[in-house]
Amino acid sequence: MSEMLQEKKKERCERIPDAEAMRRVREHNDTIAAKTGTRPGAFVLTFGCQQNEADSEHIAGMCREMGYTVVSSPEAASLIMVNTCAIREHAEKKALSIVGQYKHLKAKNPSLIVGVCGCMVAQEHRREELKHSYPYVDLVFGTTVLHEFPTLLLEKMTAGRRRFCADVADHVVPEDMPVIRESSYRAWVSIMYGCNNFCSYCIVPYVRGRERSRRREEIVAEVKELIAQGYRDITLLGQNVNSYAKGSGWGYDFADLLAELDAIEGDYTLHFMTSHPKDASSKLIDVMACGKHIAHHFHLPMQSGSDAILKKMNRHYDRERYLSIVRELREKIPDITLTSDIIVGFPGESEEDFEATLDMLSTVRFDMLYSFIYSARKGTPAAEMEQVPPKVQGERFDRLLALEHQIASENNANMVGKTVRVLCDGVSKNDESTLSGRTDGNKLVFFHGEAQTLTGHFVQVKIERAEPFGLYGEIDN
Ligand code: SAM
Ligand code: SF4
Repeated sequence: MSEMLQEKKKERCERIPDAEAMRRVREHNDTIAAKTGTRPGAFVLTFGCQQNEADSEHIAGMCREMGYTVVSSPEAASLIMVNTCAIREHAEKKALSIVGQYKHLKAKNPSLIVGVCGCMVAQEHRREELKHSYPYVDLVFGTTVLHEFPTLLLEKMTAGRRRFCADVADHVVPEDMPVIRESSYRAWVSIMYGCNNFCSYCIVPYVRGRERSRRREEIVAEVKELIAQGYRDITLLGQNVNSYAKGSGWGYDFADLLAELDAIEGDYTLHFMTSHPKDASSKLIDVMACGKHIAHHFHLPMQSGSDAILKKMNRHYDRERYLSIVRELREKIPDITLTSDIIVGFPGESEEDFEATLDMLSTVRFDMLYSFIYSARKGTPAAEMEQVPPKVQGERFDRLLALEHQIASENNANMVGKTVRVLCDGVSKNDESTLSGRTDGNKLVFFHGEAQTLTGHFVQVKIERAEPFGLYGEIDN
C-alpha cells in the first residue's frame, strides 16, 4: 500500500461497538433480572446540540443492547450517563452541578455506575476536575470514542476501577450503532463528524476532532430504512454539512448526497444543519430549489455583521458574501425560511461592530435567531483576546433580542391568512386543549385536532393569528 493510501486509511476508519463487550454486560444484567424480576435501569441525560441528542440516542441504544431498561429518572437507574456540552461555560457549569447531585444517589446505592461523556470531558482540565473532585464518577469518555462505551463499561464492571478515557479518536467513523430514537417520526442522521474550521471562539474542533464523513451508501441505507419505518422528518447532521466528503476523493459532495436522498420515494421532509457560509454553494441551492422533499429552510449562522469581527472570528466570509448567499436563496427559493446564529460581545466588539450586526438583522430579516453571549473557551484563540465587559455584553444582547422580537413579530404577522404544512407533535406542552407542530421552516404552530390521529402526520393549517414566537390557526384540509 502506498504511503498516501496508508495515511488516508489512518485518517478515517469505521468502528462498531464491541459485540462481545455488549454480550458480557447483557449477561450480567440478565442474571440480575432473573434474580430480582426487574431489569437494571439506565438513565441518559443530554446537554447541548442536536449532535449530542443524536449521540445520546446511540448511548440509549447500546444500553438496551446491554440488557438495561432505559428509564426516565436517575433514582430508578443502576447506570447514569450524562452527555455533556462544552460550547459555553454555562453548559459546563450546569452539567457539573447535576453530576454533583448524583453523589447522594451513589451514597444510597454504592453499586450505581455514574458516567460522564460528551464534549466537556474531551477537555483534559475537566477530566482532571472529575477525577479529583467527583470521586463517585466511574466512567469518563469523549465524543470521538462513543463506540468504546460498552468496552469501558465492562472494564469498570469487571475490574472495578474507574475508567477515564483520554483518547481523541478523531479518525473514527462509528457505524452500526444501536439506537433508541426519541421520536417515532422525527429522526437525526449524522452524515459527518468533527470540524476543521477552527473559528477562533469555538471549542468544537478540539473536542470533536477533525472532519470525517460517513459513506454515502451507509447514509442512504439509513434514510431509506427510516422512511420505510414511517419517519416523516429527517435531519442530516454535521458541524458543517457543506464540506461533507471534502478531500475524500469519493467524487461526490453534499449537494449530490442531498439529491440522492431526495429521490427516495415517500412522504417525508429532509432538513440539514449546519451550513457554513464560506462553503454554501450554488449547486446546493439549486438542488434545494428543485427538490421534492427538501425543506425550504436554510440555517446559515452569521455570527456577526461586522467584517472586522468576522475576520477575528476566522470565519472566511464577509457581509457582502453572506448577503449574496441570502439573495441567491431568496431568488431561487422565494418561500425560504432563514435562520441564523449570532454571537454578541465577541472580544474587541465595538459599538460600531455591534450596530453592523443589528443592521444585518434589519437587512436580512431572519425568521428566527439563536443568539448567544460570547463565552471564553479555554484553549481557543479568542479566549486570549481583550474581552468585552459582561455588562456591555448583556446590554447588547438585550438590544439584539428586542430587534429580533420585532422582526419575528412582523415576519409572523405576514403569515396570517396563509396555509402552511405542519408536522403535528401532539398536545401542546403549554396548553392541553391545543395541538402543536412545526412548519418546514421550524416555526411553531398551534391548532385544534385529535392528538391520537394527527401526531406524527402532516396537516395543512390556515394561520389566523400570529405571536412573535408562534402561529395560531385551524386545520384546512
Ligand atoms: N458548526 C456550526 C456553525 O459553524 O455554524 C455551529 C456549531 S455550534 C455547536 C452552535 C453555535 O454556538 C455557533 O454557531 C455559535 O453561534 C455558538 N457558539 C460557539 N462557540 C461559542 C462561544 N464560545 N460563545 C458563545 N457562543 C458560541
Ligand atoms: Fe465551531 Fe466554527 Fe466548526 Fe461551527 S464551523 S463547529 S462554529 S469551529
